[in-house]
Amino acid sequence: MTRPAVRIRDVHKSFGSTEVLKGIDLSVPKGSTTCLLGPSGSGKSTLLRCIAFLEETTSGLIEIDGDPLGFADPGGGRSRTRLSAGDIRRVRAKIGMVFQQFNLWPHMTALGNVTEALVTVQGMKRQAANEIGNQQLARVGLSDRGHHYPSELSGGQQQRVAIARALALSPDILLFDEPTASLDPELTGEVLNVMRELAETGMTLVIVTHEIGFAASVGQKIAFLDHGKLLLDGPPAEIFGTPRHPRLEQFLETYL
Ligand code: ADP
Ligand code: MG
Repeated sequence: MTRPAVRIRDVHKSFGSTEVLKGIDLSVPKGSTTCLLGPSGSGKSTLLRCIAFLEETTSGLIEIDGDPLGFADPGGGRSRTRLSAGDIRRVRAKIGMVFQQFNLWPHMTALGNVTEALVTVQGMKRQAANEIGNQQLARVGLSDRGHHYPSELSGGQQQRVAIARALALSPDILLFDEPTASLDPELTGEVLNVMRELAETGMTLVIVTHEIGFAASVGQKIAFLDHGKLLLDGPPAEIFGTPRHPRLEQFLETYL
């Protein structure tokens, strides 16, 4: 069996005295799409941020592609994920993230946004970066928008630029945190379509979304988080089929 892209083992995360993640075990198979569902405040963003190492777990381990990124606490307590700066750089290079807010630089064109990190972080020559940038803009259907500024683009187009920007860094895993939540309903479809196409190419995606229909049709794995615990984890047919978990039923009534 190939090892999973991400393996999460007994992850706990507290902010002060509030425990937000209460022992999460989840594995994300390579080349698959995992959709993470759950009510507001259940810990979805926190879990995603832990996977991206934007947050350190309070305890538990997160492995990226078998890379053991935690250590057993020598004091005999729980093992936890704590990374050296080198580890963090190595892992971050493998993981891309797309947020609800597109966070584009307003003073840069779409192409500038997509290529900025290639040039300033990776030290790529401008021409080579532009080539990659144009390829990625084409991939999200925005070949003709490279020279437009964010203010000249719709929300859906801006989010697609943000996706192209993440893709330009060739991540192994792409994480999405409610990527369509701040879009008008008529702009949601174009972003979901881009994500569907990415899923079909066999990228490893983890998507937090309230788009249940999308999750059911594109997700190969559905994980349902409730109050910091993973209540359900399985293929969509199993999770959405009957009988349904009462908490999921309640959630679906809210979002469907
Ligand atoms: P979701 O994404 O499912 O809506 P979050 O992961 O954002 O949930 O938040 C889960 C809980 O953790 C919420 O109660 C939230 O207020 C709390 N929380 C998240 N981030 C922080 C933080 N940096 N400091 C304190 N509490 C936080
Ligand atoms: Mg969230």
